[in-house]
Amino acid sequence: MAKFKIEVDQEKCISCGACTTICPDNFELKGEDNKSFPKNSELDVIGCSQEAADACPVQCIKISKI
Ligand code: SF4
Repeated sequence: MAKFKIEVDQEKCISCGACTTICPDNFELKGEDNKSFPKNSELDVIGCSQEAADACPVQCIKISKI
């Protein structure tokens, strides 16, 4: 059962790549604008996704417990 929900606000994302560098297991840049998307939007274990969220310069990665 999933415990964490990961969302990226693509409106705010500046495509810096910090999240994909820190946590390539769960973030990828894609689309025309090269925005960040979570590979898995629900996780049992938060792992490096938390570090990625903490490192995001515009704080557009939201992690919530579900
Ligand atoms: S760290 Fe934040 S701003 Fe940079 S690509 Fe990831 S989500 Fe976008």
